[in-house]
Amino acid sequence: MPQDRYAVFGHPINHSKSPRIHALFAQQTGQAIHYTAQDVPAENFREELKRFAAEGGRGLSCTVPLKELAWGIADGKSVRADRAKAVNTLVLGKDGRLFGDNTDGVGLLRDLTVNLGLTVTGLNILLLGAGGASRGILEPLLAMKPRRMIIANRTVAKAEQLAMEFADLGSIKALPFKALASESFDLILNATAASLSGDLPPVPEGILAAGGTCYDLAYGSQPTAFVRWGGGMGAELSVDGIGMLVEQAAEAFFIWRGMRPQTRPVIELLNAERSQAE
Ligand code: NAP
Repeated sequence: MPQDRYAVFGHPINHSKSPRIHALFAQQTGQAIHYTAQDVPAENFREELKRFAAEGGRGLSCTVPLKELAWGIADGKSVRADRAKAVNTLVLGKDGRLFGDNTDGVGLLRDLTVNLGLTVTGLNILLLGAGGASRGILEPLLAMKPRRMIIANRTVAKAEQLAMEFADLGSIKALPFKALASESFDLILNATAASLSGDLPPVPEGILAAGGTCYDLAYGSQPTAFVRWGGGMGAELSVDGIGMLVEQAAEAFFIWRGMRPQTRPVIELLNAERSQAE
């Protein structure tokens, strides 16, 4: 049977589990798709996208550092992608038009609330990072009415920009890392790319409330530096973003194929494979 082609573009990309996840979705739903990972730095994005479209590519996932670029390139966009000014899912139309969507927010929210059983309403949340991922998750997080949301980022101006852009949706403020020491948070989300190089963002100790949760959007074969940090700070739950990855991929699969795969067996399988590899 001929297979429709999909891919994930990003840099670095060698850690990506997206090809495996989409292969499992395809198997589960009986869809004939072929999904690959391609290392594409920002400066090659337009050229590689053109090549992929010319070769018959039907859809693309965009990851670090391409989401904001993809938003700029898409011809049409969903409301949530436009709010985020970041696109992680592209549909390559047969007429050559590109439709951009953002499934990161729904993916994170499903993992937090459905898979992990967390209630976001009323929480004090700290969001670390102000890149494409943060842009994608702010609207759905604020829609859950947390008590307040603080954003901290290495480049403070980017956090301030995000706080300004999303101020109409709830209580949101940017703070430099060093001003966090006197604060207390129920949920700390790491949406920096620090984990990709094994680093920890400069978060002060003692800012996680008793019974609090740490969630690293990044994931790896071993617990990330931030997941370990959360454990050391006494977090009730300190997890990485494998659940979000599967959930955002399921939403992208739905956009491309019109079918919603079951996510729980895929998350369980990936977690089992990771613990076997340890
Ligand atoms: P991005 O647009 O490139 O933004 C990167 C962010 O990380 C920026 O805020 C940057 O700060 C910060 N940063 C980079 N290195 C840092 C370091 N060493 N210390 C402190 N801050 C650092 O990337 P993104 O698309 O937002 O992705 C961010 C992370 O989320 C990545 O780890 C990615 O894998 C993960 N993610 C996971 C999922 C999932 O489904 N699980 C989905 C989306 C993203 P500056 O602004 O100062 O440069």
